Amino acid sequence: MRFNKLQATQLFDGYRFHQDKVLVLQENGTVEAIIDASEGGDDVQPVAGILTPGFINCHCHLELSHLKGRIPEKTGLADFVRQVVQQRDFSEDAISQAIADAEQEMQQNGIVAVGDICNTTHTLPQKKQGHLYYHNFIEAMGANPAVADKNFEYYETVYRQFEPLPASIVPHAPYSVSDLLWEKILSYPQKQLFSIHNQETADENLWFEQKTGGFAEMFKGMGLSMDFFQPSGKTSLQTYLPRFHSEQQLLLVHNVHTSEADIELARQSATSVYWCLCPNANEYISRTMPPVALLVKNDCNIVLGTDSLASNHQLSIWEEIKTLQKHFPELSLEQMLSWATINGAKALKIEAQYGSFEKGKKPGMAIVTAGS
Ligand SMILES: [Zn+2]
Repeated sequence: MRFNKLQATQLFDGYRFHQDKVLVLQENGTVEAIIDASEGGDDVQPVAGILTPGFINCHCHLELSHLKGRIPEKTGLADFVRQVVQQRDFSEDAISQAIADAEQEMQQNGIVAVGDICNTTHTLPQKKQGHLYYHNFIEAMGANPAVADKNFEYYETVYRQFEPLPASIVPHAPYSVSDLLWEKILSYPQKQLFSIHNQETADENLWFEQKTGGFAEMFKGMGLSMDFFQPSGKTSLQTYLPRFHSEQQLLLVHNVHTSEADIELARQSATSVYWCLCPNANEYISRTMPPVALLVKNDCNIVLGTDSLASNHQLSIWEEIKTLQKHFPELSLEQMLSWATINGAKALKIEAQYGSFEKGKKPGMAIVTAGS
């Protein structure tokens, strides 16, 4: 058998850096071994930069790619959502082309697998081509329990169209899902892998704690009485996390307004929880950063996501790492690269193939340059 032997300036295996090592791959990309450079022989190819397993983008909305550059920055979540909803003048062709371009951008940036939010089937033709691995999170929403049945029927139709690609029906956000819709989602017979936009704004906690703030105004504006909604007196995460069952795995996305008490509750929960950071989107939408030091201090399973091109200038996990490094210089590159690789693979339950250079895996690769 012929092997490809790669010796990079720095080799990261998904967990740690190696010095003076050579990565040996089978011709189809399957990992054979990591060996000492002295044993590499004369057919070792040099690689300039950091060689890592392919990046895992745990949160994207590929179907929103046509909104690149369309939404003004730093106006806050409520205004951001309003602007996204107003953008309707795009042909199917323009949407499809933007999806294809965005996927190609992810490939060029070393991304091999994506946790992708779907409200529609727009991305399906592109995904069927199989360039990247996708777990399709079919996102259900509807705060009004009267429409839960009808809404769920629609999401189930979308889900069925995605089959046999990996997919699951998931809640959009704590404030946008009625009790009845929650029940339908969590009892549906499907892969037990969930995602939710969590604590993206302070208003989300206010709504659950006191039934006040921006969401109270938003529902009023929508003509929705919400008389049936009783505030729990707790934060959003503390209110909804106990709904999940122990065998369900959950990806919490954004976590900008997550407290130590929230993290403590998640640690005690039988549901396994991954914390997805999308720093560039947080900066784009509301000029905020998640409480990274708190998450690290509490040994949380951290992963990274780009969110969509509606709220980001690019789809690059390396750019997310650079933004984290800028705001949190105490984080080590090794730590962040493990979030981008092995942790991401575990969060999407694909660590048997992705996330690390371990014998028998076929994780793809990314080559990046520190300081660029
Ligand atoms: Zn999102």
